[in-house]
Amino acid sequence: MMRTFARSSAARSRHRRRGALPAASSSTRRVSRRHPPRAGSSTTQPRRSPGPGRRFAVRSTAMRTRLVLATTAMIGSALLAAPTAPATPATPGVVTARGAVEDGPAVIGKRVIGRSVRGRPIVAWHLGETGKPKVLLISTMHGDEPHTRQILTSLRDGRPIHGINLWVLPTYNPDGLVRGTRKNARGVDLNRNFPYNWTDLDGPYESGPRPSSEPETRAVMRFLRSIRPKWILSFHQPLYGVDTATKNRAFSRRVARALNLPRKSFTCGGVCHGTMTGWYNYRLRGGTALTVEYGARPSRRRMQVTAPRQVLSIWDASRHR
Ligand SMILES: [Zn+2]
Repeated sequence: MMRTFARSSAARSRHRRRGALPAASSSTRRVSRRHPPRAGSSTTQPRRSPGPGRRFAVRSTAMRTRLVLATTAMIGSALLAAPTAPATPATPGVVTARGAVEDGPAVIGKRVIGRSVRGRPIVAWHLGETGKPKVLLISTMHGDEPHTRQILTSLRDGRPIHGINLWVLPTYNPDGLVRGTRKNARGVDLNRNFPYNWTDLDGPYESGPRPSSEPETRAVMRFLRSIRPKWILSFHQPLYGVDTATKNRAFSRRVARALNLPRKSFTCGGVCHGTMTGWYNYRLRGGTALTVEYGARPSRRRMQVTAPRQVLSIWDASRHR
C-alpha cells in the first residue's frame, strides 16, 4: 500500500519521541538522558578538611602545580590506552520501571527486543496487568501497511488498562516503515522468513537466503519464546478480514465479531510458507496467533478510537475512566 495516511506534525513528533518511528540513534538518546554525564558531581562533594598536611602543600605552590600537571598527563594517557567502551550497549531485555519519563500511565514496561538490518530498535511496550491473559499485538511487519500501528500506539498512550496482560509491538519492520516498503532493508518479506514450512521464494514474497536469516525475524522469535503470549493478533492491510483458516476457529469468530470485520481464509494462494503465525501456532505451539487485515485506508477514528476499544473487548478488558 502507498503511504497515503497523513498525520499531524504534532502526532508525528510525539511518535518519534516515543520511538514509534524509531531513528537509528533513538536508543542512544534515551540512554544518555537517563544517565547524564557525571562531570558536575564533584561540585556537590563536601570540601575535604585541610588536615595536617596542608602547611606542606601550601608551602610549595610551584611543586604542587608540577604534581598536578604530571598526574593529569598520566590519567590522560591511561584514558587513551584504555579500550573504548561500545557507544551503544546491547539493550534487549531491559525493562524500565513504571513511570519512565517517555511513557504514559498505561505503560508498565518496555523492551528493545532487537535491531533491524539498519540498526533501528524494535520496541515492545508492556501494558495492563500481569497475571491476566497474556496477549501480544503486532503491527507493521510490512512497512507499507502502517495504519494499524495506531491501534497499538493509542492503547499504549492512553489510560491504564485492566483485565489483560498486554504487550504491543507497533513497528516490527522499522526499516520498511521508513522506506515505505513491504520488505525489510535487505528486500526480504519478513512474513515468509520464519522456520516453518519455509521455502525459497523470490519476487514479491522473497523469503530470504534461509529460514530466520533476518535480524527482525530472530528478534521476534526470541521475544515470543520469552513471553509466550496465549493470544497474538498480527495486524496487516489491505485484505479486510480475520483469518478463519487457523487453528482456533472459535477465537477467529470472536475476533471478527468484536472488530466488525468479515471472516476470510488467508491461504497465501495455496500454502503459507514461513509465516510468523504458522511458526507460532504449529512449531512453537505457544498459543494462538491470528492474522487480522484492515482495508487499505481505514479511518483515523477507527484506528485510534474504535478498534482499540474493540480489541480490549475481545478479552473483556477495559481502560480506566
Ligand atoms: Zn502484511
